[in-house]
Amino acid sequence: MKRETSRLGPAFPVVSRSAVASRAAALRRPVAAIAGGLALLAAAACGSPTGAAGGSPGGERPKVLAAFYPLEWVTGRVGGDDVELGTLTAPGVEPHDLELTPRQIAEIAQADLVVYLKGVQPAVDEAVAEHAPDRSFDVASAVSTIPAAEEHGHDEEAEGHADADYDPHLWLDPSRFATVATRLGDRLAEADAAHADGYRSRAAATAKELTDLDEEMREGLATCAGRTVVTSHAAFGYLADRYKLKQVGISGIDPESEPSPARLAEVAKVAKQEKVTTIFTEELVNPKVAEVLAAEVGAKTEVLNPIESRPETGDYLSAARENLARLRTALGCS
Ligand SMILES: [Zn+2]
Repeated sequence: MKRETSRLGPAFPVVSRSAVASRAAALRRPVAAIAGGLALLAAAACGSPTGAAGGSPGGERPKVLAAFYPLEWVTGRVGGDDVELGTLTAPGVEPHDLELTPRQIAEIAQADLVVYLKGVQPAVDEAVAEHAPDRSFDVASAVSTIPAAEEHGHDEEAEGHADADYDPHLWLDPSRFATVATRLGDRLAEADAAHADGYRSRAAATAKELTDLDEEMREGLATCAGRTVVTSHAAFGYLADRYKLKQVGISGIDPESEPSPARLAEVAKVAKQEKVTTIFTEELVNPKVAEVLAAEVGAKTEVLNPIESRPETGDYLSAARENLARLRTALGCS
């Protein structure tokens, strides 16, 4: 416990913290709440004997913020009841273009840990770098990443992924996501040593669920008539990488980027060549372009969920299994 002091200590530079405090006060946040947050952080940093017993006097648990849904899901699984979990991206909001309110920035500054994925949400990347550099866990740092494919060229504006030269959608490969769960368990155990065993055992259980899912997908996608998956935004690079499919993204990694007519013509050509039966679209993106393309190549459209936002029913695991079923149909897998 004592060893945590030096690790967490430098994470709270006095200057930026007081700046955040005054900004938060201007938002009429009760000063007491901020003081409470600091006390909690101090307790976590010092490993105070009262806090270490579990079920500390105030019942205060580490505040953990997850940047968007899949990270919220994995953090909820691994953190369990030992953390107070919040999320920065409300359900139904497309996470790539998230803008943070001053209140959310204050929450980031006060959190014990922010779980994010560098390259998905520039606003979060920036706020974490400024306010929580040592109280953050970048999920991309836990696994090997794959490069952002050239054909996803959102280079003109690069709005969504200005800093990332890798594809950030790594949660769509359950085997990589299992590694994320394990590493997150270690990170939470570090930040809240009193509950380390709980974090590590839940992380192991979550990793097992994800490894099982990986196995199911590997088997389900092993023998198929086709292997080309045309999607509205290039979110499925890791899925394609893991299960040896070929992803053709109509627009880039940023779902809001409009494909050029040349790009559309190119995708239509590939879709015809590969006898693609299904053009995949997704719920939070306007399906118009996918529909036009499907009509042109004589395919139908179907939803493939990039699981960037909380599903209306079920969770990450059930959404991934729905994706598997739809892919099996579209690709004619036996
Ligand atoms: Zn995306």
